[in-house]
Amino acid sequence: MPVKEERIIEVLTYGGPERRLAYKVRDTTRGYTGPGALVRVPLMNRSCLALVCEGLGEDVPLANKLKYVHEGLYDEPILTPDLIVLAQWLTRYYAAPLTSTLETVVPAPVRAIMSPKTTRLIELAHHPKPDELDALAKKAPRQAELVRFLMQQDKPISRPLLLSRLKLAPTSCDALVKKGLLKELVRDESREAYADDLGDEESATVGEVTLTEQQAEVLLDLEASLQAREFRPHLLHGVTGSGKTEVYLRLIENVLAEGGGAIFMVPEVALTPQTLGRVRSRLNKIGEKVVVWHSHLSAGERADGWMAMARGEAKVVVGARSAVFAPIPNLRLIIVDEEHEPAYKQAESPRYHGRDVAVYRARLCGALCVLGSATPALESLYNVESGRYRLNRLTRRVDDRQLPTVHLVDMTREKLNPKGAVTISNILADKMIERFEQQEQSILFLNRRGYNTSMLCPECSHVAECPHCSVTLTYHRTDERIKCHVCGYQERAPRRCPKCGSAKYRGRGYGTQKIEETVQKILPRARIMRLDTDTMTKKHLFRKILSDFRTGKIDILVGTQMLAKGLDFPNVTLVGLVDADIALHVPDFRAAERTFQLLVQVSGRAGRGDKAGEVVVQTFMPHSPPIQYARRADFEGFLQEELDQRRDFHYPPFRHLVRHLFRGRNPEKVNFYAEQWSRLLEEKLEAEIEIRGPAPAPLEKVKDTYRFHLWYFVGNVSRVLPMITALRQDFPMDEEVIDVLDVDPVDLV
Ligand code: ADP
Ligand code: ZN
Ligand code: ZN
Repeated sequence: MPVKEERIIEVLTYGGPERRLAYKVRDTTRGYTGPGALVRVPLMNRSCLALVCEGLGEDVPLANKLKYVHEGLYDEPILTPDLIVLAQWLTRYYAAPLTSTLETVVPAPVRAIMSPKTTRLIELAHHPKPDELDALAKKAPRQAELVRFLMQQDKPISRPLLLSRLKLAPTSCDALVKKGLLKELVRDESREAYADDLGDEESATVGEVTLTEQQAEVLLDLEASLQAREFRPHLLHGVTGSGKTEVYLRLIENVLAEGGGAIFMVPEVALTPQTLGRVRSRLNKIGEKVVVWHSHLSAGERADGWMAMARGEAKVVVGARSAVFAPIPNLRLIIVDEEHEPAYKQAESPRYHGRDVAVYRARLCGALCVLGSATPALESLYNVESGRYRLNRLTRRVDDRQLPTVHLVDMTREKLNPKGAVTISNILADKMIERFEQQEQSILFLNRRGYNTSMLCPECSHVAECPHCSVTLTYHRTDERIKCHVCGYQERAPRRCPKCGSAKYRGRGYGTQKIEETVQKILPRARIMRLDTDTMTKKHLFRKILSDFRTGKIDILVGTQMLAKGLDFPNVTLVGLVDADIALHVPDFRAAERTFQLLVQVSGRAGRGDKAGEVVVQTFMPHSPPIQYARRADFEGFLQEELDQRRDFHYPPFRHLVRHLFRGRNPEKVNFYAEQWSRLLEEKLEAEIEIRGPAPAPLEKVKDTYRFHLWYFVGNVSRVLPMITALRQDFPMDEEVIDVLDVDPVDLV
């Protein structure tokens, strides 16, 4: 009888117990079982999913006691080896369970091998009252657990994932649907990999271009690092329209020519159809497939795109944050465009920052990482100063076009205008009229949706507040409703004050809807469109508005900050920033940085064609440093002043910030546990971290839960976070209090 060949492999189990274990593989075992494989293994009398890793080395139990792998689920690896190491790093650095990290790294349809035809989703039909939940907990604890879990989710969850995650029988779920507590949604998944309808925007460049001198110089430097294959991230600081994308494209072409692969990250795919179109058309010409990776893909598209990369059929991916995990085998290049964008940070566990993960992954692979922006994050600029990143600059626009002229309008003066509250200053109105008459286009930015920001009664000073959150309700004229922008609660807009009955109940403050109306009054003949998340709900409407604007069917576009991202409209010669101060009022140590970035980004949208551009900035604080530095486009000045401030307060980038949020329905309880915890931490980790708080979060109440936070200032996250995680595991937290660790947070409200 011939001796059977056997191999020993190491796997990471997840979904249930998270372990690193060794198994044996027979040569007859079905499917691929090498590094990066998804396999099924026996574990504690169950069949578990696991990933095969490479070279974890020590602690392997004795070979003769090992069990056999059941099967490999695919005929090829689903992960590259570096992704497994990366997932483990994410787990430590961001204090997230390995299961949730792997669920983020490997998309559900690949992991769970679901049927891609339809997906059954579960969500709460309504938020149960506490006594309702208590009653349920007594009768059916497992069902109550399910409800509690769903209360923490902000979108519907796939039913099979939910059941396997909570290890529930399908009957518990069905019972709750019957009781009317849960809703089941069935979604059809159409499957059309590659044939995505995003990114078909016409690309601006026709034919080959000759690089400018600056571009050529930068490309040369980047190529040197590409060839060196050592860890050397680059920051490409280039003004908008300086030809960064062209440089990225050349790099990608070089990498492909050498048989390598590349990841091209953008903050949000839907908002960058032009970039996408350009990458696609350039690479399709040389016969390369490009996978587009974003959150609107169906399960089938996801599975197909992922496997195309894993098999090496597609070597380039363009995508949002999660594209950083693309299983590109010979990864040589990662580009993070608009690297300063907070959208790169994931808001759920694992709360990773796409840019930082990109840098780490590049290090694991010996790939080149290029971070590009017209307004780099202070963290990245600081990394340049301290010698960790190399800096490349593109200081001139292609064709040496001028940067637009910036006019600052002091709104405290405009306020003296007898006609009452001014939203559009005279100078902005005049310039808009002028552009309209010359058949040129304008964009107005305002980072506030709705019509009025709040409803106020002048007689009894009642303000309409959300019954579930500590924010005022915003009046939306389009449907005559007042809405909570935090939890989505809404009601009909009352005509009289609900408290005293006064008929003087009025809206206060203004949002995009009101600006749209005001502009229409100034220019009755102009064709005006509004673009914000209220119009974004329909994907095709969004695309139609952009294409109508491009073809000149719209004269003036009014929109929120999302418009400031990467759009290129040659006929736009005027940009108005209606309220430059919004970000300055946010309680965040990055307020100045965000304001500066917004001003510079917004200015970049004016005069991209052959016509000169103008920018009008309306502000009540014309002398505040970020506004002044931005007006002069003085990056160096802003950087030095802002770094000095951060240094004085020991804020990032000088130390890492970790935000620890505690929340629950009972504010006293939440505060109590936050305090108990902070005492423990103080005692154990005094030498390692500086603790501030606990204090109520700026947004104190959200969806009926009260929020308190602690801030930790940390020198070495990789060392300290595992210590915090270990202490946290033994801490007797009340089951009604939920706590969340956010490492390097971008959002502090
Ligand atoms: P950025 O990414 O820095 O905003 P882009 O790469 O999009 O800049 O370039 C801006 C515009 O200039 C695009 O329309 C692009 O096609 C064009 N362009 C880029 N490089 C050149 C070049 N060397 N010669 C001519 N046009 C160029
Ligand atoms: Zn009143
Ligand atoms: Zn609310």
